[in-house]
Amino acid sequence: MNTNETQKELFNRYYDLLIDWNERINLTAITDKDAVWLKHFKDSVSISNIIDMNKVDSVIDVGTGAGFPGIPLKIMYPHINLTLLDSLDKRVKFLNTVIDELELNNVYAIHGRAEDIAQDNSYRERFDLCVSRAVASLPVLTELCVPFVKVGGCFVSYKSEKAKEEIIEAGKAISILGASLSDVKEFNLSDDDNLRVLIKLNKINSTPKNYPRRAGIPGKKPIK
Ligand code: SAM
Repeated sequence: MNTNETQKELFNRYYDLLIDWNERINLTAITDKDAVWLKHFKDSVSISNIIDMNKVDSVIDVGTGAGFPGIPLKIMYPHINLTLLDSLDKRVKFLNTVIDELELNNVYAIHGRAEDIAQDNSYRERFDLCVSRAVASLPVLTELCVPFVKVGGCFVSYKSEKAKEEIIEAGKAISILGASLSDVKEFNLSDDDNLRVLIKLNKINSTPKNYPRRAGIPGKKPIK
């Protein structure tokens, strides 16, 4: 990962806050510094394998947790307007501390469920790019994420080994939600790391108003 001095400093401060807060609230199982750099920071910015972030302005990270992949993307691509969404308030408090301490501009942390926030016109179909890592299976995630994307924008899902099966299972959801499968990239972050898969969906039509369904329903009854 090629970082300049400012970015290195920001990642180091982010790492310190993550480890400090992790003693009080559950943020990450990975705490070793090299492992955090690889499996959180480098993994988050691996999106450059599938899209050119310099062409993206507004980004929403759904189910961001401790800020992955959103915060590393902001550090590497400071021009983006970033919205971080999570349903756990404690994690949103941590994110607000990171935003303050790292003095990040145009980053907003929101507490709520994707199903509710995506029905709010201030967020619905407002983003060039939606990203999400380790939140749900692709059929569920498609319903939670595609409604946030403008027609002409895209959704990138960070997945691993089971990606191919998930893409097949998500076929119906992808077309109902107004998206189409655009690209899939497989790679490794290092020689001894697991397979990573990025899935890119393009938003080609507006999402019907009745999606996403009420909070909890996408997970309980995925579109199939
Ligand atoms: N994306 C982060 C990462 O890769 O480290 C966090 C992954 S964590 C396993 C999943 C996160 O998604 C949790 O912080 C949880 O609160 C959030 N989440 C789950 N369902 C959600 C929903 N429907 N709307 C918003 N956030 C959700």
